[in-house]
Amino acid sequence: MNCLFCKIVAGEIPSTKVYEDETILAFRDIAPQAPTHILVIPKEHIPSVDGVTPENKAVVAHIFETIPAIAAAEKLTGGYRVVSNCGPDAGQTVNHLHFHILGGRVLNTQMT
Ligand code: AMP
Ligand code: ZN
Repeated sequence: MNCLFCKIVAGEIPSTKVYEDETILAFRDIAPQAPTHILVIPKEHIPSVDGVTPENKAVVAHIFETIPAIAAAEKLTGGYRVVSNCGPDAGQTVNHLHFHILGGRVLNTQMT
């Protein structure tokens, strides 16, 4: 499958990993929008939030239970934002489910 993040999971494209276990991977965004900008992905290919199902929902829960540990390791003591863009109107550019963790500065409060 011609998926950038599947290639990162496979090690075919390099990434700066910050967390990895059997089912998920977290790595630094190549074009950071904040001092800390990390992407957390399931290792299995799920196209977007729209692709979350009863069969794969456990990996999404696991991502969310791991995000606070990643944020703590990154010392995001002032808080952080978790974002997932789903589909073209939201500006999703990589069609493999991912959650952005953004922090390290006061973030713009505008959500749109
Ligand atoms: P989105 O626009 O929500 O689909 O997010 C995709 C993100 O992937 C963007 O923030 C990109 O900067 C990031 N990105 C694209 N290619 C790479 C790469 N090779 N390594 C790390 N991050 C990447
Ligand atoms: Zn993929």
